This record gives sequence, structure tokens and C-alpha cells, in this order.
Amino acid sequence: MSKKYNFYAGPAILPYEVMKKAQDELLDLNGTGLSILEISHRSKDFEAIINGAIQKIRKVFAVPENYHILFLQGGASLQFGMVPMNFLQEKTADYINTGSWAKKAIKEAKLFGKVNIAASSEDKKFTYIPEKFNLSENPVYIHLTSNETIDGIQWQKFPDFGSIPVVADMSSDIMSRRIDVSKFALIYAGAQKNIGPAGVTLVIIKDEFLQKGADNLTTMLSYKTHAQENSLYNTPPCFAIYIVNLVMDWIEKKGGLAKIEEINEQKAALLYDTIDNSNGFYRGTAEKKDRSRMNVTFRLTSEELEEKFVNEAKKEGFIGLKGHRSVGGCRASIYNAMELEGVKALADFMKEFQKKNS
Ligand code: PMP
Repeated sequence: MSKKYNFYAGPAILPYEVMKKAQDELLDLNGTGLSILEISHRSKDFEAIINGAIQKIRKVFAVPENYHILFLQGGASLQFGMVPMNFLQEKTADYINTGSWAKKAIKEAKLFGKVNIAASSEDKKFTYIPEKFNLSENPVYIHLTSNETIDGIQWQKFPDFGSIPVVADMSSDIMSRRIDVSKFALIYAGAQKNIGPAGVTLVIIKDEFLQKGADNLTTMLSYKTHAQENSLYNTPPCFAIYIVNLVMDWIEKKGGLAKIEEINEQKAALLYDTIDNSNGFYRGTAEKKDRSRMNVTFRLTSEELEEKFVNEAKKEGFIGLKGHRSVGGCRASIYNAMELEGVKALADFMKEFQKKNS
């Protein structure tokens, strides 16, 4: 099979070593003679996996002890509703509207209380991260999207919102860099970009915030249930959690988030430099200061040329470069598992394509 470079936005590339290990032990987990796919979620073997994953996430992502680490289902999309369902309760929350995903979070929040749009970059088609915020008087939380997967913008630094609890959707840049978790009340992320396969959603929630959650909710939609039961109230997505556990081992082996962050910066710089040095053949869609290091969004000079680019890239083994159907253009998603070598190969292809088509 010829080499494939996977630039899909999600589900996305996973580390080869993780895939190989999962393959090797798929039929026989730790000498049990059984597969991870067929053992009880109450077994000692699975207990070791879920607790191992939690411990490693705490270490790798530097999650303080006063936070619960949960594995939920329903994707980040369910979190759009679960957050306001648990915490909004007819009060007011502030939301920052930075793009396609923030918008979806806002839509759900409106079902549960008042939403104040504290800032929005919709005026310029979500090409930047706002810097001025119009906060409401006493919001129960402020919600932001750390990286807009479709629009290709990312918060490079998080503002200080004082004592307001900050809730963040980190689906597409979770563990791509070091962050100060203590600045957040709740972080959620679908696993399927940086930390695992689809099917599990990571939630990191501060105990103090958790306690403020409503008590009159259906059991499965209450964070308290999952915190009390260590994500084992019902059958969790065992295989997905197993892979997350392996991905944490891989991150640690790579040198932790400091090293991952350094490589991610190099990867993004390489692509953005290629774009910026193309004399307008490629054009980045986001304002430079807010460019995403995970999802590099760019246009060519016509839609026909974009289609040709995506098709020729595919023939050469570069997969998943088509922009999201809602915005068009091109997008290279370069999550943690994409090696620098793959990005170099893409940059070379882009230069070659430019030469042939200028
Ligand atoms: N938020 C962001 C930033 C995303 O990128 C995505 C998925 N691409 C979602 C939320 C929705 O995640 P899910 O499909 O897991 O519900």
C-alpha cells in the first residue's frame, strides 16, 4: 500500500504505534485470552484501563486534583446541551461566538436560559478571535471554543475572566499544547481528533463547579452521576477509552505536551509559510494572529483550482484536504499524530502544484 498522509478533520489520524498495539492485542488483552471488545466494564482489566487513562490524563494535561475527569458519550454536540442543562437553569450565561461550533453551542444554550453574546467575529466571517468582551452582570459561566475546526481560528491566549467560571469546547485542540487547566471550570472535547477515536467525550470539571449543577435532571445527563460513578454508571465506550489510554502513553513517550506543542508549532509554521510565500497562489483565510495550529484553512484563486488541488493531492496520498462543506476551500488538519515529515511532504506538494499551475 502506498503511503497515505491523513489530513482529515475528524475522526482523524491516530499514532501508528497506538494502532499497532491495539491490533496486536485485539484478540488477547494482557494475556486474558479475551478482547477489549468482549470484557465486562466491571472487570479488573477494564478498571485498570479506565483508571490508568484518568491518571495519565491528569499527568499529561496537568489536571489539578480538584477536578473530575469523565468519559461521556454523545459527542461534544451533547455537551452543547448538557452544559446549559446542568448549569444555566433560566439564568444568564455569556457565549463567545467564534464560528460554526460556537454557534451550535449557543443554539442549545438558548433552550435553557438567557444567552448574552459577549463577543462575536461573525462580522468578518469568523476569521478572527475577538479581543473585547461585553460581559453580562452576573453570568453563571462564560463559554468559548478554543479552536474552530471549520473556520481555522484558535485562541492563542485565554483572557482572564476573573471569577466567572469558564467553560471551553476544546474538541479540536485538546492536548495539542499546554494550558492552565485551573483557569477553567469545565473543559469538554470529543476524542476523535487528538486523543482517540469517535465515541468518547472527555469532560474535565472542577469540583466546586460540579456542585452547582442542577439536581433535577435525568440521570444520564447529570455530570454529578458520572462524577460519582467514575464514568461507570452505565456501560462506557470501553474500546474508545482503551485507545485514549494508549494515546496518553504515546504522548508521554513523545516527551509530553511541551514537546508535542513544539512540534505542532513547527508543523503549522511550515504550512503557513508555504501559504504566505506563494505570491497569492494560496491564501490563508484566518487573520494571522489567530491562525489555528490544528486546522490550516486556505483558498486557491478559484474553486476549480481548489478542486484540482484536492484531487491531485489525493492521488499523491494526501487525504482529507477539502474544506468543510459549509465554507468550502481547503483545510489541512494537522493534529498531534501527524508527524512533521507528513507536513513537509504536503508543503513540498503544494509548492510543486503551484509551479505546475501558475
Ligand atoms: N466542537 C468542535 C470544535 C468540533 O470540531 C466538533 C466536531 N468536529 C464538535 C464540537 C462536535 O463534536 P461531535 O461530532 O463529537 O459531537
